[in-house]
Amino acid sequence: MLIFARNNKGKLVSINDVPNGKLCQCTCPGCDDVLVARNRGKIKAHSFAHTSKPEKRACLMTALHRFAQEYLAAQEQILLPSVKCKHMGKTKIRPAKLVKILQSSVESPLDKYKMDVELETSVGEIFIEVKVTADCSDEKVSYIKNNKVPTLEVDLSQFIEQPMEAVIDALRNIEPYSNWIYSWCDDTLKNEIEKEVEAERLALQRALEQEIERKKKITKRAINNLVKNGTIGLPAKEFPFTAFINTKEYKLQAKVLSAASWSFNSLRVMIDNEDYILATCQILSKKGQEANKLFILFPFNDDALRNFKPIPNSAVLCRLFRKGSYPYMWLSFPEPNPRKLVPAQHKAKQLKRESLEYFENYSI
Ligand SMILES: [Zn+2]
Repeated sequence: MLIFARNNKGKLVSINDVPNGKLCQCTCPGCDDVLVARNRGKIKAHSFAHTSKPEKRACLMTALHRFAQEYLAAQEQILLPSVKCKHMGKTKIRPAKLVKILQSSVESPLDKYKMDVELETSVGEIFIEVKVTADCSDEKVSYIKNNKVPTLEVDLSQFIEQPMEAVIDALRNIEPYSNWIYSWCDDTLKNEIEKEVEAERLALQRALEQEIERKKKITKRAINNLVKNGTIGLPAKEFPFTAFINTKEYKLQAKVLSAASWSFNSLRVMIDNEDYILATCQILSKKGQEANKLFILFPFNDDALRNFKPIPNSAVLCRLFRKGSYPYMWLSFPEPNPRKLVPAQHKAKQLKRESLEYFENYSI
């Protein structure tokens, strides 16, 4: 049913805006046939009738397309559909915006293309492509995107056979039938997202820097305290070994160093960077003689701890940052002297034997 036609001034008109019959002086926008208006009846829906050619679907489509173009171009304002922008893993939405139309035209040239409607609005130039049958060609879509031409596609294909009121309603509120090929505020939204991402990155970096500052402060205080006291509490060190007791194999630990406080001298910081502080000192034996050289690592992050490679066979202690405590642990320990290791293994074996005997007796 044809409800839009071209009048004798070349303007697209709807069936309710023309005189009845031949007086309408209209032609079909699709095939140029002379039309008569049937808009007097109260029962049948009003429509134009062709006079010498058959009414084709193409006539309806062309009429709808032309009417939509002229309707949109004739408005004083337009409610631009909302814009959703996805960029750098973030989404930003600009709600629908009512803008003034300052100037408009239909079939506007854009490079080698023809755009259905061109609107000069209060937020800049916006093109509208009215889709009734064919999609915008891929080439045209690429051109629009590459050249950042704000373009809205309005799909009216479902309205080809619809009554006029439905078409007008759709044109008044185009959001449900619209798709931005390139939105009018795409650059702005992308820019906003980029600024947000950059701000978050800076905040994170700042937080990390503050965290390192904090750990450095705590570390330097700890080093000062060590120097002041001249002693350090070394954790115990055990070496695993396997032993046979009554032909049964056991995995045991030989304790070569008991947890105890040791005196030291010449503590100094060797490396002080963003990831860790490495200090060294000279451990003193119980008799006050210089014993092993001790290195102490204060890592400020897990990477520093993972990446630190101790010199083989050196004594490296690591002070960890744990919630509310700063335990020491051995990162590296010198290979023990057999004179120390063998008795330690012997002792571990002896203790194991005793505990086995105890439980044997217990079970009887
Ligand atoms: Zn026709």
